[in-house]
Parts: sequence; C-alpha cells; structure tokens
Amino acid sequence: AIELMDVTKYRGTQCVLRHVSAQIPRGQVVAVLGPSGAGKSTLLRCVNHLETIDGGTITVDGALVGYRQRGDALHELSDHEISLQRRRTGMVFQSFNLFRHLCVLDNVMSGPLHVLRRPRAEARDKAMALLQRVGLADKARAFPHQLSGGQQQRVAIARALAMEPSVMLLDEPTSALDPELAQEVIAVIRQLAEDGITMLMATHEMALARDFADRVLFMVNGEIVEDVLPARRFFEAPASERGRQFLAHHH
Ligand code: ATP
Ligand code: MG
Repeated sequence: AIELMDVTKYRGTQCVLRHVSAQIPRGQVVAVLGPSGAGKSTLLRCVNHLETIDGGTITVDGALVGYRQRGDALHELSDHEISLQRRRTGMVFQSFNLFRHLCVLDNVMSGPLHVLRRPRAEARDKAMALLQRVGLADKARAFPHQLSGGQQQRVAIARALAMEPSVMLLDEPTSALDPELAQEVIAVIRQLAEDGITMLMATHEMALARDFADRVLFMVNGEIVEDVLPARRFFEAPASERGRQFLAHHH
C-alpha cells in the first residue's frame, strides 16, 4: 500500500507537486495520467525516494519514506537505510537502465545477491524463474546490447521484481518502444496486474491505462485533478473540462 498525504514539492520556486493525497491499497493498479510536465515522473520518483519532498508524507506499507521514527522525533534515513527502504518499491524507467557489462541473468541476480545478500544458488533460481515469467529464459546469458528494446524492458521488469517489492513504479514503460515491441511489455505488465501487484504507472498510452488500470489519477500542474475509480469512468466521462481536453488529444 502507498499513502500520499498532502505531498508538496518545489523545484526552485516552481511548485511541481501540490498537496497530492491518495491512498493506494495493496493490489491496486493505478494509472497516473496527465499532460507533459504535470509531475507524474516526479511523483513516482518521490515514492522511490529518488527525490525528496518539501511537505507532506509518503508511506509505503506504513513506513515513512526517507524517515524513521525514533522516540517522538523523525530522523532522516542514512544512505544504507534508504537503499533498504527502496527495496519495497521496484522502479522501471522509460529507458531500460540495465547494467551493460552484465548478462541478463546477472542483471536480474545482482540485487538479491548484493543488496538482499541471498545465496548465489537461490538468487540464480529466482532470477531464472523471473526470466521465465517474462518470457526470456533463453536469453539468460545474452548481454543487453544483444536484445531488442522490448526484451530489455522485460529484463528491467524482472530485475525490479527480483527484489520482491511490495509496489512497482513504472514510468512510461513502453514509450521508448515501437508498438509491436510495446505489446510484449504490455503483456508482462498485464500479467503483473492480474497477479495482484500494487502498481503506480505513469503513461501517455491511454490504451495501456484503459486496459488494466483499476484507478486513474489525472494530474495537471502538480495537482491531482481527478481521482477516478473504476478507471473506465475517466475514459467514458471525465468529470473535469481539463480531463475532457486531455482525452480529446490522446486518442
Ligand atoms: P512527461 O509526461 O513529459 O514525462 P511529467 O508529468 O512526468 O511529464 P515531470 O517530469 O514530473 O512531469 O516534471 C514536472 C515539472 O518539473 C515540470 O515542470 C518539469 O519541467 C520540471 N522538472 C522535471 N525534471 C526537472 C529537472 N531535472 N530539473 C528541473 N525541473 C524539472
Ligand atoms: Mg514523465
């Protein structure tokens, strides 16, 4: 579960997240939609603590992101504690961000091995099972440059899943791919949604959101303008004028 309470963030003097609040229960698939510059990526990056916020709180599974309670006071986490906390939130970016010098299997194993300190055999078995799940078991020994974009993105998803995150954050997971390659990534994401993984996904692909999001957060200018459950209601009849305009331009 993710809880956003009154989250506010500035870049310089520009307010890029404005009193953003939403409670996302376990297993919910949330599409974060909105025009370019709305703050979708920023929001995801804050949940993963790649960026800090200036006001409000974010919790993942009840743990305050970036902080911990000691007595009555809140203390900022050390880098080590941050990396431990980040395990809860698997992040998949638009560009695949694989380790180029490692083969596919080692990419997927690296987190469990070096961060979770799992035994090598266990990490390998787990990684192979995940590669199977994303349809790439036969590419375990290939290097990223030998794979298509769609395959690389599926490896990136497997690598995020290897950390057993309780939520997955996906930022434009298909936008760097041509439609055919996007389809194979979409199939993997759909499977995750069916498996009940909590997901927060920023996307410009209305088809992707319409396909399997339970809920839509529609953002404009750092603000949630519509929070719609079930998601299809947003596509059928957006409540705001801004939502109507947005959909008219995204068909
Ligand atoms: P897009 O759909 O284009 O990905 P977005 O909704 O993800 O847009 P963000 O990337 O979160 O939008 O950007 C929110 C605001 O923060 C924008 O006004 C953007 O210009 C600004 N911004 C984003 N990244 C930076 C940065 N590294 N430095 C300064 N400003 C930034
Ligand atoms: Mg973005």
